Amino acid sequence: MTHWFDELLPEAKAYVGEKRELVVNAGLSVSGLQHVGRLRGEITLSHLLARALRGAGRPVVQSLVLYTQDEWKGKEGQLGQFKGDEGRKYVGRRLIDVPDPFACHGNWVDHYWRDFGGVLERFAPGVRIVTTTEAYKNPEMQALVRDLAARSEEVRVLVNKYRARHPYPSGWIPFEAFCEECHTIGAKTISIDGTTAKYRCERCGHSGSSSIEKGKLNWRLEWPALWKVYRVDIEPFGKDHATPGGSRDSCKEIAETIMHFRPPMGIPYEWVGISDRGKDLGDMGSSDFLGFTPAQWIEVADPEVLRYLYAYNPIFRRLVLDLYRVDTYHDLYDRAEERFFSADREGDEEDQARSYELAQVSAPPTERPFALSYRHAAFLSQISPEHGRIEWCVKRLRDTGILDRTPTNLERDRIARRLEQSRGWVEKYAPENRVRLMEVLSPQVQSQLDAKDREGLRLYATKAAGLPWTEDAIKESMVSLTKAGSLPVETGRFFRDLYLVLLGSEKGPRAAPFLAVLEKEWVVRRLKEAAH
Ligand SMILES: [Zn+2]
Ligand SMILES: [Zn+2]
Repeated sequence: MTHWFDELLPEAKAYVGEKRELVVNAGLSVSGLQHVGRLRGEITLSHLLARALRGAGRPVVQSLVLYTQDEWKGKEGQLGQFKGDEGRKYVGRRLIDVPDPFACHGNWVDHYWRDFGGVLERFAPGVRIVTTTEAYKNPEMQALVRDLAARSEEVRVLVNKYRARHPYPSGWIPFEAFCEECHTIGAKTISIDGTTAKYRCERCGHSGSSSIEKGKLNWRLEWPALWKVYRVDIEPFGKDHATPGGSRDSCKEIAETIMHFRPPMGIPYEWVGISDRGKDLGDMGSSDFLGFTPAQWIEVADPEVLRYLYAYNPIFRRLVLDLYRVDTYHDLYDRAEERFFSADREGDEEDQARSYELAQVSAPPTERPFALSYRHAAFLSQISPEHGRIEWCVKRLRDTGILDRTPTNLERDRIARRLEQSRGWVEKYAPENRVRLMEVLSPQVQSQLDAKDREGLRLYATKAAGLPWTEDAIKESMVSLTKAGSLPVETGRFFRDLYLVLLGSEKGPRAAPFLAVLEKEWVVRRLKEAAH
């Protein structure tokens, strides 16, 4: 089986043919929360394509258009960002003209772009960003606006083919002017002369004129106009535009018949959903403020881990992300890393290895680096001292045999990052993994153990003393002990006893990965002490 990306790439190469300088573009509307779903097609896929084409010796620009002239619609989620009713008075303005609800940035766009644009370089370096606000200052774009206005009847007939039920009336000009009176966008354009639009505003009744720099083309014209002005060759886009006879088809036809150029290769992709502890909450949505941002992601994981999920899961299939499962995502990533550095792979392992390679932002290391399990890191970060934490953890990893050599700088850096990331993850998204070792076995705990409890702990202490202290061996020892029926207490009671004597509480995290990062001697001593 060929990796989905390696099936797509030859198609892209065939589409662009011999053309040397290429532009891979995508577009985003900064209508609200800039969630990680937008890193999938718009950023990661574009980056993979741009990088592969550069590898084939061509200069490639990866570009991103931010739709900042779009109207702020005042959806419920958007209004909810403001205190009380304040948001209502901004409905109809351009996104760029809506104030920052939190007053820490110049406007709405700057505020919501921060948690995406501010860390974008780490997910895909070198993306060229243009806003549509800038685009309308471009003389080429302005000339196109004039041309389309001059041929408005021809444009109208074509656009109406796609709007059978609500055709535009004769005299329609495909430009949404800015109203100087009520400062909204979408005033009806009467005529365009030079860089000035004459308009009549249906919102406030004002008639006047404004610069075309402040307005925008109707979206069916705007999309192909941006392709033309920015010379786009390849463009991934969200699947909602992809239906036959849908918006992309109309834009493609406009490009070919009205603007006379070949439209870019379009690559539709599926949305990214969000779930909360396994409960699917639907697709991430910007103006619905549903999802989480790239800035939130890098608090708990490296960008490569998310890129891996995007590289591994075919672009045409929906994917659901859950911050509660970040530990599992690391398991997947680590396993893929292992496959990548292994000579012996079969079936899906090939896809995993290839996805790992694609996920790397920089060239992958030459040898397989040590990967500290995210779950181990989560516990280590909590039981280690604040001061000198990394040294302490490295020593513990050496002592427990999890790490069998002195780590390289790269490995140390990754250990340090995982300690910090996993700790943040426990605090923010998985608090049931919080642990605090009980320094001294308390009389309260001892009083909660009866003779059978103590016998169970004694049995396990003996077993543990003879184990190689790894997660797998610990897990196996517990399974064999509970399955063999040799425990004097029920399985649930045994774990309750175990957590009680180690943590002082009846519940705790998954036992094997947790025990594996503790000192074996300490665990055995504590069990024996409690069994005494
Ligand atoms: Zn702000
Ligand atoms: Zn107005």
